[in-house]
Amino acid sequence: MPISTYSDAAGDALRSLGDFASGLVTPSVKLGVTGLARSGKTVFITALVHNLIAGARLPFFDAAAQGRVLRVYLEPQPDDAVPRFQYEKHLADLRGDPPRWPESTRRISQLRLTIEYASTKFWKRQLGRERLHIDIVDYPGEWLLDLPLLGIDYREWSRTALEQSRMSARKKIARPWHASLSLVDPTDPADEALAGTLSELFKAYLREMRADPHALSTLPPGRFLMPGDLAGSPALTFAPLDPRGHDNFARGSLWAMMERRYEAYKSHVVRPFFRDHFARLDRQIVLIDVLAALNGGQAAVADLERAITEILECFRTGANSLWSSLFLPRIDRIVLAATKADHLHQQSHDRLEAILARLAGRAMARAEFSGAAVNVLAMAAIRATREGEARRNGETLPCIIGYPLAGETIGRRTFDGNEEFAIFPGDLPADPGAALEGWQTEHGEMRFVRFRPPNPRRRPSGDFAPFPNIRLDRAIETLIGDYLA
Ligand code: GDP
Repeated sequence: MPISTYSDAAGDALRSLGDFASGLVTPSVKLGVTGLARSGKTVFITALVHNLIAGARLPFFDAAAQGRVLRVYLEPQPDDAVPRFQYEKHLADLRGDPPRWPESTRRISQLRLTIEYASTKFWKRQLGRERLHIDIVDYPGEWLLDLPLLGIDYREWSRTALEQSRMSARKKIARPWHASLSLVDPTDPADEALAGTLSELFKAYLREMRADPHALSTLPPGRFLMPGDLAGSPALTFAPLDPRGHDNFARGSLWAMMERRYEAYKSHVVRPFFRDHFARLDRQIVLIDVLAALNGGQAAVADLERAITEILECFRTGANSLWSSLFLPRIDRIVLAATKADHLHQQSHDRLEAILARLAGRAMARAEFSGAAVNVLAMAAIRATREGEARRNGETLPCIIGYPLAGETIGRRTFDGNEEFAIFPGDLPADPGAALEGWQTEHGEMRFVRFRPPNPRRRPSGDFAPFPNIRLDRAIETLIGDYLA
């Protein structure tokens, strides 16, 4: 090696060491935000960023409570290939007149937030203010359901998918797909139109299972439920087939075509997502709409527990995990958060947390989970209700007050979105086990209506105040507090 090249390289190394020592290399933490569709990801990220930038009061976020957060701002993200999280657009929706909920997550996106802070360590404070980049990565939780596919071939996936679709609760919804499938011979020549029809029918079945409020099933492939930028692409045009006793299929057969596409889906869609995005996360919050499942009944709760188990499988780093063939994830802390706690009176917030802890505990036992630390909490990133009391039959009941969204109903009443109402949502049971085994409150079933966002408020300085929240500060502290020590 010529001397000059050698010394150049050494010079580079020395320079970057110098950069590091003088603080020019800012540490960063990649924070994953995930959860199934409509669990609250977009609302959470928008509220988190707004609270930090606006310097909101966050008593349980130590760095803020101790006055050590000096400045927070957005910066261009480092990854050019990932779309930016539309923070400004989402905030504008929430500040609209009337305020609207922002458009939900449909694909992966990213946002870089930089925090300037004073360290708690004396010697670090002498070096001036510290900086930390927080790279927030928002992605659909449905995509995590695909990890197990990497371990199974097309034949096994087809068998499992067919078996699941023949279970009693699903059979009815799967009927149109089953009817077409029964006419198909997998040894027939590959036919693009037929592949398209089967794939559409299979997707319709998956979507309907997911939308069924009494089931909320989440079955892979994840991109069939949440296609992101791949909507309509041939990579997603496949479906399970019944081998009908055949062991081998000729090249050019329908089976061979579907098998090839299934494998392409794994190698071009699933694997790159886990390798390029998931495996690079440092911290993760998984948002869970526990109340929607409780509202749906026991089958919905069972499906939610199954989904949490599968999601936790992705974070498991033990010897038998599917990761052995891939890159190891480096996530060391996971927060499981039950969202939309503002649908309950505050006396039920701890109960909601306890129910999620029970669900998570069972899911972790099932997934033989080890690895990252798991924390559980109940929160509302944006509180759309306030609390009050109502009298019914001589009894005083704690209730919540807000604007139910237009079209929401309770009993025979349909709301128009313009009027405030006090609603008694019911109490969650003190025993979390009872909630999971299907229970009814003494006042009947729990009823949750969706509320419109709260009216935005301006500060005396003229800028918008962050929206009220429930326990958002605890979520922030658990996710990144230690980075700001
Ligand atoms: P995503 O699909 O995970 O991005 O879900 P969103 O963040 O778009 O949330 C879906 C819907 O849930 C919103 O449109 C709201 O109706 C509701 N929602 C989300 N977060 C909250 C919250 O903190 N409080 C209330 N009341 N509703 C919420």
